[in-house]
Amino acid sequence: MVEPTAPWSPSGSTRLVAVIGHPVGHSRSPALANAAFRAAGLDWTMVAFDVAEGAAEAAIHGVRALGIGGLMVTMPHKAAVIPALDSLTPTARALHAVNSISWVDGALVGHNTDGEGLVSSLRHDTGLEVAGRRCVVVGAGGAARSVVHALAGAGAAEVVVVNRTAERAASAALLAGPVGRVGSPADVANADLVVNATSVGMGAAPGAPGPVPFPIDLLQPGQVVVDLVYQPVVTPLLAAAGARGARPVDGIGMLVHQAALSLERWTGAPPDLAAMQLAARGG
Ligand code: NAP
Repeated sequence: MVEPTAPWSPSGSTRLVAVIGHPVGHSRSPALANAAFRAAGLDWTMVAFDVAEGAAEAAIHGVRALGIGGLMVTMPHKAAVIPALDSLTPTARALHAVNSISWVDGALVGHNTDGEGLVSSLRHDTGLEVAGRRCVVVGAGGAARSVVHALAGAGAAEVVVVNRTAERAASAALLAGPVGRVGSPADVANADLVVNATSVGMGAAPGAPGPVPFPIDLLQPGQVVVDLVYQPVVTPLLAAAGARGARPVDGIGMLVHQAALSLERWTGAPPDLAAMQLAARGG
């Protein structure tokens, strides 16, 4: 008779990591991280802490006091945690936003893995190398800024920022250095890679027509079109991209890869991406 595998449960030596945000109940980070920990047989677990606005620095003091092994940071605390940290990576400093915190030689270091997560997801999940590509990023908020910075860092030939509010587009485009510029929706037609980093399409009914961030007749066959929005997974933009012969890429890949970069840093080993993908997709 085959013994059932004993389910994992926390013990006195379990390593705790956490995500902080407000609200945070919807966060998929614990599901992703715990799927990776169980797949690797690690005695680690992640929980979510709902940290009120204004309490981010106190939460970091709690990380130090409790010896929490690592922290993911989501809205509205990505900038607010910075004064409580010992140092920042160059990317987190450039973006003035932290989405992941790790211990390095007893010091708490703030990272930003969002944009790198997208580049990594494109490489692993679609085989697309960003180097030499003409990219359009639609949006100029926190997600867009991290993506613009990462695309330029990965060697994009051009990073064009298109946004409803012009001043925010200009600020985001600066993050791409000499390959960055502000553009208009017409630039979508000439891009190899188009990234929707606005929240347009979020919450749309799956499979039904819904709002798109630019006119869909600008989309061209062969383009790679990423929507960072992942609720629904197939957004109105991705449905339109597929119908026009472009290659649609959903936002789950970036979600998984930005988390994987944190987990690898914390545990010292690359996590099981397939287990994380399954957890992210509700499997
Ligand atoms: P944010 O900082 O609030 O920025 C929102 C962006 O959307 C801004 O550029 C804003 O333009 C634009 N926008 C909002 N409503 C619009 C509308 N009706 N028409 C045109 N533009 C509109 O948000 P964020 O944190 O960057 O997040 C953006 C999206 O990315 C969200 O859906 C979020 O869930 C998703 N996201 C996904 C991942 C992932 O791993 N897949 C990671 C991070 C974020 P203005 O500047 O003109 O206001």
